[in-house]
Amino acid sequence: MKNFVKIVECSDYNLEATYKALKEIVNFFEGPKKLFKNMKYVAVKINLLKPAEPGEAITTHPAVAYAMCRILGESGIKPLIIDSPGTGTPYTRTSLERVYKQCGYYELFKNSNFELNYNTEFTEIKVPDGKKIRQMQIIRPIIEADGVVNIAKGKTHAFTQITGAVKNLFGVIPDMYKAVYHAKMKDINNFSDMLIDVCDFVKPVFSLIDAITVMEGNGPSAGVPRNLGYIIGSSSVYAADYAFGEIINLNINNNPVLLSASKRKLIDFNKIKINGDYQKIDDFKFADTAAVTPDGHVDPSLFFKIFYEIFKRISDIKPCINKNCSGCAICKKACPVGAIEIINNKARIDYSKCIRCYCCHEMCNNKSIDLKKGVLASMLEKFLKRK
Ligand code: SF4
Ligand code: SF4
Repeated sequence: MKNFVKIVECSDYNLEATYKALKEIVNFFEGPKKLFKNMKYVAVKINLLKPAEPGEAITTHPAVAYAMCRILGESGIKPLIIDSPGTGTPYTRTSLERVYKQCGYYELFKNSNFELNYNTEFTEIKVPDGKKIRQMQIIRPIIEADGVVNIAKGKTHAFTQITGAVKNLFGVIPDMYKAVYHAKMKDINNFSDMLIDVCDFVKPVFSLIDAITVMEGNGPSAGVPRNLGYIIGSSSVYAADYAFGEIINLNINNNPVLLSASKRKLIDFNKIKINGDYQKIDDFKFADTAAVTPDGHVDPSLFFKIFYEIFKRISDIKPCINKNCSGCAICKKACPVGAIEIINNKARIDYSKCIRCYCCHEMCNNKSIDLKKGVLASMLEKFLKRK
């Protein structure tokens, strides 16, 4: 059932309703016994980007993760909740405690039989079939588990357009190592290929997208929550993202990660079969950076490359510090190229170093970093909206 996707409606995060919805999805894929055959210990990879309240739609809602743990537990499988938060939130026990507490995991899981991971060891592994990476650092539970369930939060993303099932697995790389990849893979096509290398190594048994409440606008953390009322499940991480894109009306040509997966023959969009009713959202808002990048995913000729480089410069979208900045330095820690300094309790960006990865925007807790478009970017956006 590799190309199948199941979408089930679930209007809110009521524990029983969420459990029922997940059960319906897992049973569609022939049930947990078949799906997780011969597995005793499964790592449940959620999205814990940073400490945030569940209602902010920045992280996977704990009710969805808990429902998955219940289903695994009923089949005699031991689940372990895992993630390495985004760059800027260190992968340490203290930091994990803070994230679990704020994201609602600690409270929900404390009286259950299900564990939250506190082992912050990681290890270097080889990626022999990788296109962009041949080795990487990876958090230990991924190596030790018999299988991985991948539970993403459905969100927009300033760099990759959406963060769904594929992007969620970037979190198996511990904190600052993520920043290294951002620094090395400045081009969206390279970055997408790197994400696919990670995905192809982890090979999750099953992927879910928490699309009950998603984030639109300037995701993955400065956008606005929006209730869609769906949970998406698939054995294919790519098919799950495709279905999310269908719901939010994202043109496949504007999804760089899936285009890279398709080029590598990991997914055939024509073969994906979506089971379940859903409504396409016509007015879904993408990140401010989204409108200027749709043609960045074409394999360019030399002429196009030169044109595109010039185009990129004049259509630039800059991260700009606004007056809310408290000088907390989270962005400074998150910046992979050291482009941020804190001067007089305010962040300052050195644009000659900045690679426009938007990690600072992603990690700022104060919404103090705006994404400002140049004149051409604004004009282009208006033009694309009119079309
Ligand atoms: S921009 Fe945000 S993360 Fe950076 S120092 Fe200011 S408040 Fe902190
Ligand atoms: S300043 Fe922000 S956008 Fe620029 S490289 Fe640093 S983290 Fe990325």
